[in-house]
Amino acid sequence: MPNYTGSCYCRAIEYELQLSSPDDARTSLCHCRNCNKAFGTNYGLTTKVPKESFHVTKGETKEHAADNGTGVTLYREFCDICGSHILEYGEAAKDKFRYVTVGTLDDPNALPPKGEFFCKSRANWMPEIPDVFYKQEIKE
Ligand SMILES: [Zn+2]
Ligand SMILES: [Zn+2]
Repeated sequence: MPNYTGSCYCRAIEYELQLSSPDDARTSLCHCRNCNKAFGTNYGLTTKVPKESFHVTKGETKEHAADNGTGVTLYREFCDICGSHILEYGEAAKDKFRYVTVGTLDDPNALPPKGEFFCKSRANWMPEIPDVFYKQEIKE
């Protein structure tokens, strides 16, 4: 069973991802404005995993919940010491999935992207990732 580990920048928070196969993770870019703001970059990079595969092994995340601008509550969890964004999920995914920030994985190359969301909001200078799926909007 592949096991992935990760942490925030200051390592106060550490976590483990237990997947039966790398195919159980779906990594994607999201170019939406919410991701721009939350990640502080021109896209967000997360991997969608079954909720039960994600475990915090050290420390405790701080939760932020707010309307994402379309009436949907979006939850984000981060380190309240160093500010690293650890994961997020929308109301609909709450009981099933977690979207873990790929940059916090100890090996960020382990789960490469399979698709891009909100391509209509892609930064002008940013090229497409080759050989993945592209959606103009919607991130489940
Ligand atoms: Zn931290
Ligand atoms: Zn987004």
